[in-house]
Amino acid sequence: MARVAVIGAGAMGLAAAYHALKAGHSVSVFEADRVAGGMAAHFDFDGLSIERFYHFVCKADRPTFELMGELGIADKMIWRDTSMGYYIDGQHYRWGDPLALLAFPRLGLIDKLRYGLHMFLSTKRRDWSKLERENARDWFVKWDGARAYDVLWRRLFDLKFFEYADNISAAWIWTRIKRVGTSRSSMFQERLGYIEGGSQALIDALVQAIVGRGGTLRLGAKVSQVTSEQGRVTGLIVDGERLSFDAVISTVPTPFVSALVPGLSTAAKARYDSIRNIGVVCVLMKLAKPVTSHFWLNVNDASIDIPGIVEFSNLRRLPDTVVYVPYYMPQTHPKFSRSSEEFVAEAYGYLRKLNPALGNDDLKASQVGRLRYAQPVCEPGFLAKLPKVQTDIAGLQIADTCFYYPEDRGISESVRYGKLMALAVADRAVWDAEGR
Ligand SMILES: Cc1cc2nc3c(=O)[nH]c(=O)nc-3n(C[C@H](O)[C@H](O)[C@H](O)COP(=O)(O)OP(=O)(O)OC[C@H]3O[C@@H](n4cnc5c(N)ncnc54)[C@H](O)[C@@H]3O)c2cc1C
Repeated sequence: MARVAVIGAGAMGLAAAYHALKAGHSVSVFEADRVAGGMAAHFDFDGLSIERFYHFVCKADRPTFELMGELGIADKMIWRDTSMGYYIDGQHYRWGDPLALLAFPRLGLIDKLRYGLHMFLSTKRRDWSKLERENARDWFVKWDGARAYDVLWRRLFDLKFFEYADNISAAWIWTRIKRVGTSRSSMFQERLGYIEGGSQALIDALVQAIVGRGGTLRLGAKVSQVTSEQGRVTGLIVDGERLSFDAVISTVPTPFVSALVPGLSTAAKARYDSIRNIGVVCVLMKLAKPVTSHFWLNVNDASIDIPGIVEFSNLRRLPDTVVYVPYYMPQTHPKFSRSSEEFVAEAYGYLRKLNPALGNDDLKASQVGRLRYAQPVCEPGFLAKLPKVQTDIAGLQIADTCFYYPEDRGISESVRYGKLMALAVADRAVWDAEGR
């Protein structure tokens, strides 16, 4: 059995550590942050423990349920009926079921039928090989028509991906449509889940299981280098200290990889470096009144420069209204370096446009979370761009949230990949079976 080092204590790293311990390895996890959880980590928001970045669960998230079952916290999964709205040019519309679509006045009947059929067939589709080479914009225009793309999708892509908006893989957006579209109790009712106590409950249970099985978790421990000799991993450098390991599992975002692993070939480093990510500035607000009755509201309005809001308290039962306003953008965008106060002022101004009943005194608390690498940009043909998880350095596996493309980043896929990485320590064939 091997001495395994895991870099990163997000969902993927913790799942990898847990499964590696189960397989009998000795495991040490190194996390740069002072807390475990990565993108799913909680913080204290005005007395409430909540994720820095919103998290919902879909019925398709089976790896999460399987893991929660193993950890003895399956009963913490809570399901709620949720709804979606659209705000377009100053008007609110109900969205997300066939009746809402039929009543939607901004598209003609033919466009609505085309859109409805497209969404329905997308939830049934399994084969994504053709979509992988297709551009999302062209895919929507082909199925739904140019007008439907302009009304429903264009601004969502533009305000999430900016200069990359017209070059996103159709397979990537299809998996998102399918994951949310199949999380329903009927054709008319969306149903989403959350973990009681938030994602932290899963993180805490994983940490407890890791420590309980004799693993170690070092927080505030930034790995500066993965060392190797003659094509075989030898260990890590952490805070200037050299530590020996037989196997290393890295779950850090790909933009960090080439500096972290000097032993990779120039060609391999170039592959990691070519994977682009956009950042996020996520404004979290506690309000005295609800904004809408929906969990999510998509926005297509020239005076509001965000693609939507997430009214989290319409999913997780909370004592106050809690809303996330995510500003996705490449970190090179001039807005990314604005102050948190500017983001809060603008975001609250947007909420007041969405619901004019919100007054000056209704904003009770706010926080701003930032991530430089929050969302991989997966263009058509992305699969061919992805390096193998098992690198050319024996004993070193590397993955992050883009490796399970075409699935979007998500806790469920991260824990699934963590498990596969743990199993592959002893059996490289795991990745052949996965095709990665
Ligand atoms: C705004 C937003 C909304 C989201 N919404 C949802 C949702 O609704 N549902 C859902 O399922 N998922 C959602 N996700 C995605 C989900 O949070 C991620 O897929 C998942 O948490 C990723 O876990 P990970 O372990 O793969 O990566 P990460 O969480 O990024 O973990 C990587 C870890 O590596 C650490 N690290 C980096 N460099 C080093 C180093 N040199 N040494 C040591 N440690 C290092 C980092 O600090 C981090 O903790 C959302 C994400 C964001 C940003």
